[in-house]
Amino acid sequence: MITLQNIEKVYRTSTIETLALNNINLDIKKGEFVSIMGPSGCGKSTLLNVMGLLDEPSKGTVQLDGQPVTQYRDKELARLRNQKIGFIFQSFHLINDLTVLDNVEIPLLYRSQNGKPRQEYAKEALTKVGLSNRVKHFPKQLSGGQKQRVAIARAIVGNPDIILADEPTGNLDSAMGNEIMNILQQLNDDGATIVMVTHDEQMAKRTHRLIRLFDGTQVL
Ligand code: ADP
Ligand code: ADP
Repeated sequence: MITLQNIEKVYRTSTIETLALNNINLDIKKGEFVSIMGPSGCGKSTLLNVMGLLDEPSKGTVQLDGQPVTQYRDKELARLRNQKIGFIFQSFHLINDLTVLDNVEIPLLYRSQNGKPRQEYAKEALTKVGLSNRVKHFPKQLSGGQKQRVAIARAIVGNPDIILADEPTGNLDSAMGNEIMNILQQLNDDGATIVMVTHDEQMAKRTHRLIRLFDGTQVL
């Protein structure tokens, strides 16, 4: 599903060079639920962003469904991202002056719509995360766990193959964190491939495979 070969990522400013990823080789299979752990600054977010076609590697190749995407132009990458990948972030990244329903519809605005109305898909996604009773609320009227559920609905509304989650439970207490993990597990059971960055060993234990990073390198 996602293959990374000899991935290196260097961040350069005029004075500093940071080797954020150092020769990463990974194969994420369809249907897997993989977690990524490691100390702060070891390259977890960078790795997720490279997998999600948000960050271009300095060296190496990224393949999505067996297709190398490294040579694609930004516009093609954006289209692929929109079709195949759903992102979830620690701090939710919801738009505060849009309703829950409007937030969830956002990814569909970039697609041609020739099925049901967008609202129908958004409502279905909100039902999957147990929030169909909050469609007209605004983000500030929701708890942290509810906000993250909206963010998950937004990530899955376009029916992506891959869900990339960067510390999705990092801002939540353990009860809410567990609820979010239950939802991710259900999505995985339903066929989604999921890669999740986490600091929480308990969350990582609930996934199929753990990748540990240290200083930009995968450790076994
Ligand atoms: P993690 O998610 O594990 O905390 P990151 O992937 O965010 O780590 O960062 C890995 C390394 O790359 C860190 O040393 C960080 O300082 C550096 N880094 C991340 N983003 C940038 C950037 N935009 N410019 C320069 N250095 C960066
Ligand atoms: P069909 O049977 O004609 O494929 P679908 O409802 O499966 O009908 O798809 C119709 C359109 O809606 C397609 O353009 C498809 O890409 C899009 N689509 C399908 N499922 C979803 C979904 N869950 N969220 C958003 N768009 C979707």
